[in-house]
Amino acid sequence: MSLPFELRANPRPRSDAERAAIMADPGFGLNFTDHMAVATWTSADGWHDSAIVPYGPFSIDPATAVLHYAQEVFEGLKAYQHADGSVWLFRPEKNAERFVRSANRLALPVLEPDDFLGSIEALVAADAAWVPSTGEQSLYLRPFMFASEAFLGVRAARRVTYCCIASPAGPYFAGGVNPVKIWVSMTYTRAASGGTGAAKCGGNYAASLIAQQEAAEHGCDQVMFADAAEHQWLEELGGMNVYLITADHELITPELSGSILEGVTRDSILDLAKEFGLTPVERRVSVPELLEGIGSGFVTELFACGTAAVITPIGELHLRDDVYTVAGGGTGEITTALRNTLLDIQYGRAEDSRGWLTRVL
Ligand SMILES: *Cc1c(COP(=O)(O)O)cnc(C)c1O
Repeated sequence: MSLPFELRANPRPRSDAERAAIMADPGFGLNFTDHMAVATWTSADGWHDSAIVPYGPFSIDPATAVLHYAQEVFEGLKAYQHADGSVWLFRPEKNAERFVRSANRLALPVLEPDDFLGSIEALVAADAAWVPSTGEQSLYLRPFMFASEAFLGVRAARRVTYCCIASPAGPYFAGGVNPVKIWVSMTYTRAASGGTGAAKCGGNYAASLIAQQEAAEHGCDQVMFADAAEHQWLEELGGMNVYLITADHELITPELSGSILEGVTRDSILDLAKEFGLTPVERRVSVPELLEGIGSGFVTELFACGTAAVITPIGELHLRDDVYTVAGGGTGEITTALRNTLLDIQYGRAEDSRGWLTRVL
């Protein structure tokens, strides 16, 4: 039986004027809607107390397990408004399935995909007025689950909270799409074999922040991580997968190694490759191979991908004191075309021949 997400309406929602002011310049991850989805799991009773409730703070006991042992997983997806006013999700079943896999890895309970999707549909329906209708804007959805039992013993929590919040989001890059500079970290890794790299969990992000600081100190925007064992094989950025395009028309991404997060955007791009006359390839790519390819011009384009920023061109790689400029530091043609194709499908401007969209309103 699926979980009900009935609306307990916020008695004090933002006024039309307040909402309009926020949506005129929403930024990213800064502003939240009037409601949120919640559900509680206990080992004794399973999932219960599910509802759409007014958005607001949790009251957290200082001994709450997640604050000490980081037993937490999350997801990220967007609701897109089409020109006719209808609202759609992009491959949300992939997020639902990944949420199950992440939860399994972190010894959290399974929220059935139907309940995950039900919570999101109910939240978007409650906060329909918050789905942006202009430009490259969307309603960013952030489902998450954490150990909410107040107990300092080290074991899987017997009380867990699920929540989904929603945030109107402007284009990820306020100033338009510009190539980013990437720091290749030879000091830190984000995930190792047997670890949690393939799970979408907060702990992976915590582990990546110091490398992000190292990148910033070197004038870079983001970090590229290599594998933990040999510091040799490309993995991904802190929160995005990575792709290279070669002069012989291959679209290459590091194969899923167990320590790489399986992105929905990554998967969608593999599927789109043929439309661009490219051969999709998943294989190991070494850091030296990439750097040589950039140097010789064999690697013609390089980009990162993920739900939040869609596709981000990479203009420079920085490794220690060396700078490698990709394709003159500009945005490659295929990178731009792939980005536009994905956005056109998401915003209903191109035919959804793969059945990737799910209508929610
Ligand atoms: C979420 C995430 C991605 C991108 O996944 P999408 O499903 O495409 O948004 C890539 N790497 C990491 C580490 C992530 O957490």
